[in-house]
This record gives sequence, structure tokens and C-alpha cells, in this order.
Amino acid sequence: MPIATVNPATGQTLETFAPFSLDEVERRLALAERTYASWRTTGFPERARLLHRAADLLDERQEDIARTMTLEMGKPIGAARAEAAKCAKAMRWYADRSHTLLADERPAPEDVADSGGTGAYVRYRPLGPVLAVMPWNFPFWQVVRFAAPALMAGNVGLLKHASNVPRTALALEELFLAAGYPEGCFQTLLIGSAGVEGVIRDRRVAAVTLTGSEGAGRAVAAVAGDEVKKTVLELGGSDPFLVMPSADLPAAVAKAVTARVQNNGQSCIAAKRFIVHAEVYAAFLAAFTDRMRELVVGDPMEEATEVGPLATSQGRADLEELVADAVAQGAVVECGGERPEGPTGWYYLPTVLSGVTPGMRIHHEEAFGPVATVYRAESLAEAVAIANDSPYGLSSNVWTTDPAEQAECVRDLQAGGVFFNGMTASHPAFPFGGTKRSGYGRELSGHGIREFCNITTVWNG
Ligand code: NDP
Repeated sequence: MPIATVNPATGQTLETFAPFSLDEVERRLALAERTYASWRTTGFPERARLLHRAADLLDERQEDIARTMTLEMGKPIGAARAEAAKCAKAMRWYADRSHTLLADERPAPEDVADSGGTGAYVRYRPLGPVLAVMPWNFPFWQVVRFAAPALMAGNVGLLKHASNVPRTALALEELFLAAGYPEGCFQTLLIGSAGVEGVIRDRRVAAVTLTGSEGAGRAVAAVAGDEVKKTVLELGGSDPFLVMPSADLPAAVAKAVTARVQNNGQSCIAAKRFIVHAEVYAAFLAAFTDRMRELVVGDPMEEATEVGPLATSQGRADLEELVADAVAQGAVVECGGERPEGPTGWYYLPTVLSGVTPGMRIHHEEAFGPVATVYRAESLAEAVAIANDSPYGLSSNVWTTDPAEQAECVRDLQAGGVFFNGMTASHPAFPFGGTKRSGYGRELSGHGIREFCNITTVWNG
């Protein structure tokens, strides 16, 4: 895949970038190592000052950055602004709390005495340069939710961004430099995926985090495993959205639509499978289909647009294959199921499929676009069984006000999150990540910042 800015709303290539030479990659790795040697000794106040400055700059540059994101990957412009704002908020959250999240931990005095020591504590020390392999779908947020905690912990970052968002990748590097970070604290590597293995194997790289597809995760983790380097993987998802009879149905329908089509349907935590109790199935399906059909599809730079194009032509082709497979095996297209007439970009109409069965690919695979599948369940137990019948386990959404049903869901749903009467969203204070093929490790919160730390026992005899 060439490193290029291609406008998904038109299919037009706007700019192509030559990948960095091996010499340039070497120069940047050496710089990362040198910078880390001093950055690791800075205190939290200095790290926090710089991260606050980066957040302020990001707010100042919000419109430009939002336009770059929309131009490169097609998300509606309002959502791009919201993404930039969310990044600034997460930066401030980590700037203000990291000293507490990484404060020394003191074991109980009786345990210290039992160990034969006079004193002991646990210190969270940084690991070194961390490589981040990142996707295009939230091209600022995915990077910032890695970079903010990593930098606050005293690590330095190396970003290999997706090949279709090079301007965004360069804007990120420039943001940290303009905020006053020492050169080498956060660097972008303009390299293709074939160049990743060499970087992971480089002795100066301490660890790797990846957000993206299962295939990319497996490839990166295999190399990192071979080098015995820590990885965090945030991979795909096919999140269930359960609706029980006690749900506020209009609210559930409205949220279901938002949860499915956010980011033009290309979100790992988008609700993708809607599993509805038989008592409310017909009413939900009718209202949900109406709302999906009414969505405004069009140019993502237009303020009124609710669903823009898919980010890549390959992404649309993959989605079309999933729908065609389901339809060939008897799935019913309630709405959509095709490209809209008119625009030349990589558009696909919001689509609702019912009658999906386990033999269809879409039952097990991630639909990365605005395609929803709706299932009928006779009981909560059956709904949970359908929800768990997926290789993925990122998050889950359940609409019920019944405390017993909520308790059952918290006990039984195989996912890294259970969100009641709302939709999954990430927040700096809550851990984010999945189980099963959705990956391992956590981002955000105290759990996220400690992933790339050397958790050190200090003991005194
Ligand atoms: P990829 O997973 O291929 O890309 C994500 C990142 O990984 C990019 O930086 C990519 O680089 C890199 N990468 C890809 N393959 C390798 C490899 N073998 N070794 C090292 N790095 C690699 O995402 P795609 O854009 O191809 O999307 C395909 C599918 O992935 C989607 O349909 C969706 O199911 C899933 N996905 C999930 C995301 C999530 O948020 N969990 C985000 C994006 C995609 P390069 O761009 O240069 O190939």
C-alpha cells in the first residue's frame, strides 16, 4: 500500500510520500534512544507542563487537524472536531493524574517484615522507546491514547501510522515538537507495514502497541514474541447490542443507530450485532430500519452529513463481499445493501440485515462499515449465547433496567466492557481493551499507563 493521501469522498490521490530510507529510520531510532536517556529522568511536573501545552495547541489547531483527518479518511467533519477535542481532554487527564497513577506503592508493613526487610516499595519506571502501529479510523485518538500515558510514564514514542493517513501522522509529530517536547520524544516513521519487523527487532525498541486488524496484530505480536518484547493489542470487534423488554425503546433505537454508524461504521467498538428480545423485536426492527434509511449520506466536509464514505476502496469491497455472502445464504436486506447513486467516492448505504444465521461470514466476521445485523432472541440467556458466539470480545451494550438481568450480563458476557442503557465509548478514566480475538492488554486509566512500565520492586534489608 503506497503512503499517500487519497480523498475517500472522490477517490482522488492528492499526495504521495516516499517512505523513509533505512538511513532515516536508523537516524530516528538513534535519536529516540538518546532522547529517552534524558527524558526518563524528567519529573512529572515537566512532563505535565509539556502535555498541557500540547493539549492547548491541539485546541488551537482543531479546525485544521479535523479537516486533515476528514480529507484523509472521510469521517464527518463534526466527528473529526470532536475527536480532536477528546484528544486534548485525554492529554489533560494524564497530565494531571499520572503522578498519582504511577506513585510508589508500599506493601503492608507486616508483609515487608515477613520478607525480612526493613522497607520496600514498588516503583513504576519507564521501559524505553515504544513503537505504536496505528490505524486510520480514529487517526488522532488512537495515537494520543497511547502517546499521552506513554510520555507521562517517561517513555518515548515511535509512530508507524496507517499508510493512508500520512498528513495526520506528520501533524502529530509536529504537534509534540511545537509544544516544546525534546526532539525524539515523539517521532513519526513514514514506513510501510513491511518495514515494521525491522523496527520491532531493533534492540533500541522496548515494546510495541498495535491497534488494527487481527492479521496485523498477529504479525506484529509474532515478531515481538520472538524478540520477547511486550505487546498490547487492540484489535477488531463485533460488539453485541442487546435489547430487552424493559428498555426505553425509542432511546435504544436512537442509540443503536449512532452506535452502528459512528465514524461511517468503522469503529472497533461500534455495536454491530443487534440482538433483540422477541417481545420487542418487530417494533425495534421497524424503527431501527427507518432511522438507518433516513441517515444523510454524503460529503464528509458538509456539516449536515451523518455518514461519509468508507476510508478505502478495499474496505468497501470487503464489506460488499460480506453482505453478498449473507444475502446469497438467505439474509433479508431491510434497507441499504448497495452503493448510493451519484457520488464517486467509496460510499455505501446504511444497511440493516435480518435473518442472519451462523453459517454466514458476517455472523463471525467484523463488518467494518455501516452494516447492522439484527437477531431475535426468546430469552436473555439466548441473547447472551448469540452475543458470545463470536471470535471477538471487545465491548458489549445491553438495554435493560432489570437489576437481575444486568447482573447476569456482567457475569456472562465475554467482553472487555459491559455498557447498560447507552453505547460503548472510551473515556480516559476507564480501561479499554478486549478479550478473545479482540486482543489483550488495556489502554487508558491507570491500567493503560502501567502497561509500558518496568514495575520494579525496591527492597531494603
Ligand atoms: P490494518 O490492521 O491492516 O492496519 C492497521 C495498522 O497496522 C496500519 O498501520 C498498517 O500499516 C499496519 N499493518 C498492517 N499489516 C501489518 C503487518 N503485517 N505488519 C505490521 N504492520 C501492519 O487495517 P486495514 O486498514 O487494512 O483494515 C482492515 C480491517 O482491520 C478492517 O476492515 C477492520 O476489520 C480492522 N481494523 C480494526 C481497527 C480497530 O480499531 N480495531 C482499525 C482499523 C482496521 P499499513 O497501513 O501501512 O498497511
